[in-house]
Amino acid sequence: VRTNADTPRDAAKARELGAEGIGLCRTEHMFFEGNRIDAFREMICSETVEEREAALEKILPEQQGDFEKLYEALEGNPVTIRFLDPPLHEFVPTEEEDIKKLADAQGKTVEQIKAICDALHEFNPMMGHRGCRLAVTYPEIAKMQTRAVMEAAIEVAEEKGYDIVPEIMIPLVGEKKELKFVKDVVVEVAEQVKKEKNSDMQYHIGTMIEIPRAALTADKIAEEAEFFSFGTNDLTQMTFGFSRDDAGKFLDSYYKAKIYESDPFARLDQEGVGQLVKMAVEKGRATRPNLKCGICGEHGGDPSSVEFCHKVGLNYVSCSPFRVPIARLAAAQAALNNK
Ligand code: PEP
Ligand code: MG
Repeated sequence: VRTNADTPRDAAKARELGAEGIGLCRTEHMFFEGNRIDAFREMICSETVEEREAALEKILPEQQGDFEKLYEALEGNPVTIRFLDPPLHEFVPTEEEDIKKLADAQGKTVEQIKAICDALHEFNPMMGHRGCRLAVTYPEIAKMQTRAVMEAAIEVAEEKGYDIVPEIMIPLVGEKKELKFVKDVVVEVAEQVKKEKNSDMQYHIGTMIEIPRAALTADKIAEEAEFFSFGTNDLTQMTFGFSRDDAGKFLDSYYKAKIYESDPFARLDQEGVGQLVKMAVEKGRATRPNLKCGICGEHGGDPSSVEFCHKVGLNYVSCSPFRVPIARLAAAQAALNNK
């Protein structure tokens, strides 16, 4: 049982409660601390690669410091770091004062910043420019994150003597070639950092399986991915075709009409979404027999879903820190019941 944690405090809490690693670190959450959002907004509102790289240069030490603290808190247990995932417009300033500040920092006019932010608007952002699509469009973001992960891991391994093998996770992949594209970027920078630091650190590059097409083509995806982590929040959203942010508005009618018994975002829909999970594990392992598979969607902390994960052969579940004890109990029961 691993945990979903983005801060050393959450990671320490989860370790106390018995978590054996981090299954999902959502790196975007780190950008909200203090005034870090400023550099992140500069990155978003950049119009050239050079501008974007200058902003990323400011973010790198912060990100690296965060990863170092996570590696320290985990004391050599595995840490899966997921690269930037959400649509960028979620981070843009809305207050006049913040827009002005950003415009001044970038030598742009308020109107220019507003135009850039408007252009980021999407009608369907959860199916828009997010996940690995950001790394395909802006490889420099993935480069910065790779450098931060590798430098942090090498630093902490040397200082503390922990045996660290970074796990880099690429989100929202639906096609092997897009994973390969991002993986090539990651490998290039990781190898460069190793050379600079004179290190032979190993690392793994894997993907989330959260788009139905990724599950359907898991045999191909596993040619590139060294591990799978099922993002069942998005996988549920895209399999049912309803929004994880809005479904609550109509699901009550579905419970009343006895169409659904429970919230598919809380309890894994074993009949539909579960079939995709099972199939992807089988297809993935047909290509790569030792493929490590886990789950990091909310279902990873739901007891009936944990049992299902055990049955389909997942190696671990990952859930929020406070759900770790219940997930451990469910995992133990699943192991006993399915000997
Ligand atoms: C998921 O989609 O299940 C997941 C863990 O990622 P996020 O919730 O950050 O989209
Ligand atoms: Mg997701």
